[in-house]
Amino acid sequence: MENRKLGTLAVHAGEEGVLAVPSVTTPIYLTTTYRFPDAAEAAAYLEEPAGRWLYSRLENPTVMAAERKIAALEGAEAAACFASGMAAIGATLLSLLRAGDALLLSDALYGETTRLCREILARFGVDVRIVPASGLAAAAARAPPNARALLFETPTNPALRVLDVGAVAEACRRRGITSIVDATFATPVNLRPLSLGADLVVHSATKFLNGHCDHLAGAVAGSRELVDAVVRIRRSTGGNLDPAAAYDLLRGMKTLEIRVLRQNETALRVARGLEGHPRIERVLHPFLPSHPDHALARRQMAGGGGVLSFTVAGGFEGVCRVHDALGLVARASSLGGVESLASIPVISSHRQASDEELRAQGIDRGMIRISVGLEDPDDILADLRQAVEKA
Ligand code: PLP
Repeated sequence: MENRKLGTLAVHAGEEGVLAVPSVTTPIYLTTTYRFPDAAEAAAYLEEPAGRWLYSRLENPTVMAAERKIAALEGAEAAACFASGMAAIGATLLSLLRAGDALLLSDALYGETTRLCREILARFGVDVRIVPASGLAAAAARAPPNARALLFETPTNPALRVLDVGAVAEACRRRGITSIVDATFATPVNLRPLSLGADLVVHSATKFLNGHCDHLAGAVAGSRELVDAVVRIRRSTGGNLDPAAAYDLLRGMKTLEIRVLRQNETALRVARGLEGHPRIERVLHPFLPSHPDHALARRQMAGGGGVLSFTVAGGFEGVCRVHDALGLVARASSLGGVESLASIPVISSHRQASDEELRAQGIDRGMIRISVGLEDPDDILADLRQAVEKA
């Protein structure tokens, strides 16, 4: 930097040689582009991009570390990260579908996923067919020849129905249909869909994977071939995860297991503590023996998850009183963070659902969903109990 003028020094001075420090944590590579030593290397990128760096919509080391971690957690060959769960789901579907293909969708999906398919993909000639969550394997078996993919969530929101991943994946495989499981509620601590035969697993990493309600993020994991096709879409549509958010996702995932194990335990304890309360009509948590899918949940999942739902006496007005009386538990949508959160499905996630759709998904107007955080379980239960007295 000798003999350089101030403007040049401001841009370049002091930064040489700091790139290869053996830090314990993965650095945030806050860069959009990468230096080539010479033209031969720039040209070589075109031949063999693996292990080379060009531009952060194509590759970024911090994001790549998060992707490798997710692939390892899911037992996948590869994973790709996105700026949100919806970006991951959108790119995944775009990678699989073309005009004239049929897409089978479970009727118990996150509302925006259903809207993406019915209102946007359908405009491009995708034949979107909604099928009952309880009959996905049968729907795959009798699907039309143009059926290309089937997307479902387990456990579902907010009724926490548990669907048989192995049976659905097997029915899809027989028909050449790509099975995609949104396992946001389960996390890889409780469920590993690929090990049960699913082709792809997607996550709103905004939730438990990140775990701190501070970033939107999304991910898809599966075979190298399928994930490469999704990455090809991301290259053209963007939706990449920012490296700073990727760092926080990496940090969040380091504590994924201890958080989720504790949240599993707390949710079940709270669910047990509320069941039988005179102001509560029913409590839903996959690991409660009263849950309709309890046997399957115990067989398929290592833990029941950090979310429970319950229906209070007094219907919608009653549940609004409970919601408004909460003290410790925050009145907020989303889930999977360290703070406990409560939301009423019919005025949040399911506000656009018809009565018939609500019924089909086992949702009622007096239902509230609780995502338990890492507070003391007794304090969470005490807050819910005092609120329920107002139902
Ligand atoms: N999938 C599920 C099950 C979700 O609950 C959500 C969001 O709530 C999404 C996908 C969408 O993820 P994001 O909000 O990160 O885009």
